[in-house]
Amino acid sequence: NWDLILYVNLELVNKMSNRRFIVKEMLGQGTFGQVVKCWDTETNDYVAVKVIKNQPAFYHQAIMEVSLLRTLNQKFDPDDKHNIVRMLDYLSFQNHLCIAFEMLGQNLYELLKRNQLRGLKVKYVRAFSKQILDAMVVMRDAGIIHCDLKPENILLAPSVATAAAVKVIDFGSACLEGKTVYSYIQSRYYRSPEVLLGYPGQPPDDLLREAKNTGRFFKHVGSIFPGSEAPDGIPSAYRFLSEEEVEARESKRPKVGKWYFPRLKLDRLIYSYPWNNSELTETEKTDRLALVDFLKGLLEFDPNKRWSPVQALFHPFITGEPFTGPYEPVPETARIPVARAAAIDHNPGGGHWL
Ligand code: ATP
Ligand code: MG
Ligand code: MG
Repeated sequence: NWDLILYVNLELVNKMSNRRFIVKEMLGQGTFGQVVKCWDTETNDYVAVKVIKNQPAFYHQAIMEVSLLRTLNQKFDPDDKHNIVRMLDYLSFQNHLCIAFEMLGQNLYELLKRNQLRGLKVKYVRAFSKQILDAMVVMRDAGIIHCDLKPENILLAPSVATAAAVKVIDFGSACLEGKTVYSYIQSRYYRSPEVLLGYPGQPPDDLLREAKNTGRFFKHVGSIFPGSEAPDGIPSAYRFLSEEEVEARESKRPKVGKWYFPRLKLDRLIYSYPWNNSELTETEKTDRLALVDFLKGLLEFDPNKRWSPVQALFHPFITGEPFTGPYEPVPETARIPVARAAAIDHNPGGGHWL
């Protein structure tokens, strides 16, 4: 009974830390617990408190969230310049790990829903992409993989001056590079093809269901992946149709899951709503061409060829430089990470433990 669980948890939070946090309202709930808006009587400010379910598995995963976020905040972003949520404190109350975060605004999914998922203005897409990429560069330097980047986990932040700002939240599924905890990562609809196809390693059991996803992926980027050969490293069990085969079947009803993936050129974005506007200025047109080129690079099928966050940051769509043709990123020279997260101390220490 969710009402009861909610009631019980709110009661718990009210009692937390000698009523340090006074619960004002519910902000969200997920698999791991609930997030509530609280008045912090110690700092006289609103905070967002994530109350983790009181079961050992959730508790331990949340300890990981605390330790990764502490490392990111303190060692890699001490001046809060890289669009990663600030963790303010954490405490344990009756086996509920409670993590206090700075109070942020709506998440991007809620924002998108406000205009019937018709998307944001290009200038916001540019600004938010830049900020998210910036956060990803920091995570990469720290050797931390977020594993759950999606609009629900990107929140509007109180804007600096007039500029719109976002922050990445929810390190509840994050892990250290090379120390994969789960093979089943990333929310289904945002899953990368290599994760969908289980490369390298075991293809997923429910390949058919996964293939429907892959089908959706191909629907948008099919033209980027020509030829009948699977790219390097994709198990040969996955057969892809050649351009001609696809062409031949394009008129027929798509049979997703039987290795037929309908094709829809990404470039068509330019000609379909809301792109099809004869009143666009030349600047607006090149802006949109730049955006399509940017998307292609991010949606590259082969993870080895896909742009890194740093490479993506230098795309003309992000830098605002004139777009003259397909972007060729400078190969990444060996970037020496500031400090690898191998140095992370998994005992969160500090904090208030009740
Ligand atoms: P999921 O089940 O999706 O993994 P979760 O249980 O890990 O979710 P979060 O993603 O951290 O929890 O938070 C859930 C929701 O609560 C967010 O999508 C957001 O809407 C809200 N929220 C989280 N942190 C904050 C914050 N600092 N300020 C305002 N709202 C927040
Ligand atoms: Mg979340
Ligand atoms: Mg989560």
